[in-house]
Amino acid sequence: MHTPIDNPLISGIHHITAVAASAADNYRFYTRVLGLRLVKKTVNFDDPFTYHLYYGDETGCPGTLLTFFPWEGLPQGSPGTGMVSAMAFAIPHFSVDYWTQRLAEQGITVAAESRYGEPVIRFADPHGLPLELIGTPPRDDPSQRAPDSRTAITGFHSATLLVDRIEDTQQTIVDGMGMTPGQREGNRYRFAMQDESAPGHLLDVVVDASAGKGRPGGGTVHHIAFRTRNSREQLAWRQRLQRHGLSVTDVRDRTYFQSIYFNEPGGVLFEIATDPPGFSVDEDLNDLDTALKLPAQYEPLRGQIEEQLPPLETPDFRHVYVPAEPNAVDAETIVALHGTGGNEHDLISLVRQVSPSAAIISPRGKVLENGMPRFFRRLTEGVFDENDVRRNAHDLSDFLTLASRRHGQPGKGLIALGYSNGANMAAAIMLLRAEVFSGAILFRPMMPLQMGGLPDLTCRSILITTGRFDRVIPPAETQRLIRTLKKAGASVEVVDTDAGHELTAADVEAARAWLAKGPGRACSATPLREKNAA
Ligand code: ZN
Repeated sequence: MHTPIDNPLISGIHHITAVAASAADNYRFYTRVLGLRLVKKTVNFDDPFTYHLYYGDETGCPGTLLTFFPWEGLPQGSPGTGMVSAMAFAIPHFSVDYWTQRLAEQGITVAAESRYGEPVIRFADPHGLPLELIGTPPRDDPSQRAPDSRTAITGFHSATLLVDRIEDTQQTIVDGMGMTPGQREGNRYRFAMQDESAPGHLLDVVVDASAGKGRPGGGTVHHIAFRTRNSREQLAWRQRLQRHGLSVTDVRDRTYFQSIYFNEPGGVLFEIATDPPGFSVDEDLNDLDTALKLPAQYEPLRGQIEEQLPPLETPDFRHVYVPAEPNAVDAETIVALHGTGGNEHDLISLVRQVSPSAAIISPRGKVLENGMPRFFRRLTEGVFDENDVRRNAHDLSDFLTLASRRHGQPGKGLIALGYSNGANMAAAIMLLRAEVFSGAILFRPMMPLQMGGLPDLTCRSILITTGRFDRVIPPAETQRLIRTLKKAGASVEVVDTDAGHELTAADVEAARAWLAKGPGRACSATPLREKNAA
């Protein structure tokens, strides 16, 4: 059945797979900034608790596919010899200015050059992966396309390999893989694959023995895959490459294509992948990016996997970030949560009075009540929309988790400082997402929601201040919260002040004294995230 065929074809690049250091940043950049579509969300088949993300055009056509293994917090690597050192996307030639400006507006450093007569914009993704946009004559009449897609990336243009010497690599890709040598520009050698209408049918090889060997890590390419039309052709390639003395793997089933792998003599990992069956094999083209797809062997772990994978859509909150005082050792990060009608600026000076050195993350609540920002909806005074409380608590928790990672103190635990509605949100997060805060200062809080079960709040310290003349908060609701937190294992300190609902110097003083004692000290040896994951 598998008779070798005389003229197998490698028409162009199938996909390129790279490594990223954060799934959410990766997702945001490739979908929002570059405008690619997430065409498949699955997991690394060898490590199901990390994503494998596929980006491409609307249908996930080979030649448009860029895939990532995002490993959270992975150190950055550096491109060098034995690697794909850059990948280039094609854009319509008239959109070069548009893209240059668009990238600059996002704070991305761009460099411009001309290569083989075409304009090239060089830049890097958030994890340092070298990318290029190359202006080319559009494939079809741009006036036929929707206005907002006129400037869109149309797929790969080419990829660049970096090697020490050209001879052996050239022999493999020309004699072994049927590419045609083109022009040389300096130390750049260009080769064409067999279908010049296919996206990504060009391969450049740059020779630079002084570049040093590439170091794998965030922001580097793992491998490049080339297209073949079917399994029969793939087997023909396998035999042909083996005759050239290359060590080629067996055929691997990648669900959306079949793959063989080998290292070309310059050290770059090559794959030859089949066009079929494609991404619609397990879901409708219209749903391509909606669901997490798991191979059958991991289906039983779906619940655990979904819980551990980080969210891709980063919930965005308008917020202020104030870094810790530069000389402060081991400074806390305090999350300031304003009351109804406040905003992200309101509590900054109060936090500074409580702690002169802490870093501050101060988000603005997203719910508007008669134009006044809050953190969740209420039905009437003191009666909360509990579904809204839950939704917003998770949203804000996701935001805070990413924000603390981005600002550099992962695992240390955040301390909430909330007033009134902000204190209720902090309490809701403590009850629903115990891993987020290591401690909390709650000024004038009440019980934010009915709890079925209780979280484990051992190791969490909480300060609650009340106003004896507060007419807004029913004291019984504050007591209910205190009882619940204690029952969950938190260490709760309560200070009653001679005040109403407004804050006074007594609240500030109580908070300062509480913070000076070092909340969370009881369990400081156990990083909170690990404890929670156990
Ligand atoms: Zn691959």
